Amino acid sequence: MIKAREILDSRGDPTVEVDIKTSKGVFRSMTPSGASAGKHEAIELRDNDKSRYFGKGTLKVVKNINDIIAPKIIGLNCRHQNTIDSLMIELDGTDNKGKLGANSILPVSMAVTKAGAFDKNLPLYSYISEMFGIISHKMPVPMCNIINGGKHAGQKNSFQEHMIMPTSAKSFSEGIRHVSEIYHHLSKILYNKFGSSGTLIGDEGGFAPSGLSNIYERFDFILQAIENAGYNEMIKIAIDPASSEFFYNETYKIGNKSYSGGEMVDLYIDLCNKYPIVSIEDGLAEDDWDSWVEITKKIGSKVQIVGDDLFVTNTKRIKKGIELNAANSVLIKLNQIGTVTETLNAIKMANDVGWTSIISHRSGETEDTFIADLVVGTSAGQIKTGAPSRSDRTSKYNQLLRIEEELGKEAEYPGIDFRIIL
Ligand code: PEP
Ligand code: MG
Repeated sequence: MIKAREILDSRGDPTVEVDIKTSKGVFRSMTPSGASAGKHEAIELRDNDKSRYFGKGTLKVVKNINDIIAPKIIGLNCRHQNTIDSLMIELDGTDNKGKLGANSILPVSMAVTKAGAFDKNLPLYSYISEMFGIISHKMPVPMCNIINGGKHAGQKNSFQEHMIMPTSAKSFSEGIRHVSEIYHHLSKILYNKFGSSGTLIGDEGGFAPSGLSNIYERFDFILQAIENAGYNEMIKIAIDPASSEFFYNETYKIGNKSYSGGEMVDLYIDLCNKYPIVSIEDGLAEDDWDSWVEITKKIGSKVQIVGDDLFVTNTKRIKKGIELNAANSVLIKLNQIGTVTETLNAIKMANDVGWTSIISHRSGETEDTFIADLVVGTSAGQIKTGAPSRSDRTSKYNQLLRIEEELGKEAEYPGIDFRIIL
């Protein structure tokens, strides 16, 4: 049996969950949803019926699963992930999953993986490792987003994510403790500076004080919180400016200042000189390939240059990026492409040329913890799943704590070596 239903995501918007019943049990998956979505992503289908949920309803998607996908999938072997994913891609028949919607195909694909793992009597991460063709189980370094900006915080023309990476911790659980303690120190600093409005939070659980518009000041507060927590020199910083969101008419607009692509690259170089920034995601806009090539050439040997909206987990765009030398890392979001098989192929393509992959949540999340198992199963080594607060974010970190416990001594934590591929 396959049954889809409309549920709510962490923003209170409708999304879709699917239950797949096999002879061994019921397996459930849910689709997340982005706010700063890239324009090249697979299509997220909405009802566009303004009388429900402001047009964001997902009843068409539910119908696509129950009436179109389910009859073709029922009776197939849940261990044949590739076959089932290919069949759904064929059923859709478009380049961008525009007919059925990536949000109808993905939850089925993920629930099939869960059913397959249970059928084989393996933890989900081990089953994913098998599909991916590796035997190691590396824990990830978390990228915790502690200051939210841009679309995730109702702010215009500002950097979206300011993340800390506990690279000197000895284990994943110690890393989570470091970031949680820093988060609470940051809360005190922001409260003292801005009062109760200083500790308002954004979509991913990080602080979103409206008075904090100066880019440099945000990093100063983060460094202060790191110092107050006693972790000086032990934490690295990652950013996701999500710059496609402030790219208008070939210029980048931050606050009321305008920058060319080259000036943005200079700004990042300056920030990297002043702060311990080791990773920049979407520093340039999704089609500004020349500036991507420039930043990779200038600082790619020292800094991880990550394509999110640039690559949209799509091997066609990743291939172009590799040919141009436009980055050295790929952000991986299952719903940008729509199936587990295609997601694993994107990670493989990055691995094959020595690029890193970062497994990522979306700003609109659910209680599904699939990405925690995905990051261990592929030994990707880095996960980005928001602040160390709010259940939509901590559910993934908590699943990783369980996996670490289960792996025991096998739970290798890369720490500062997060850029070393298998
Ligand atoms: C991101 O841009 O990396 C992100 C997680 O945001 P969204 O889900 O809104 O695209
Ligand atoms: Mg991003």
